Amino acid sequence: MQDHYGHDIPAGPGPWNSLADIVAANEAIGNFWFSDDTLEFFRCIYGGKLGGVIGGRFFVTGERGPHQSRHFYSVRVANDDGSISTLGEFQDYSTPGAARKAAVEAAEQLLAEALADPGVCGLCGLRTPAPGATACSTCA
Ligand SMILES: [Zn+2]
Repeated sequence: MQDHYGHDIPAGPGPWNSLADIVAANEAIGNFWFSDDTLEFFRCIYGGKLGGVIGGRFFVTGERGPHQSRHFYSVRVANDDGSISTLGEFQDYSTPGAARKAAVEAAEQLLAEALADPGVCGLCGLRTPAPGATACSTCA
């Protein structure tokens, strides 16, 4: 699976447990994605009724541009390095629920990709099983 910019999104669950973790990681690499100035420009909202992290990787944002009378919603990708990208098109969804559904489907697809890989645990999709085993030592 690729993000909006054509970068590969790794198979399996992402590493992020919470939006707070993603914000901290983004700030730690010197990005300003979550700064007040950035968010205010597009009247960008996240968290709250838009929900938390999906599949350790995705979250939903709402944006209302200068010439828009309401918010539209995007599915965001939190990369392993803490940078943020977009899945599909910016403001692709008219409701938070539709965006969350797309994020859940993307997370399920990434998990299915990982589980189809014989080098990945068939139960958690995270760790590498011992040679000849189908599950990692944690799950087995
Ligand atoms: Zn496992």
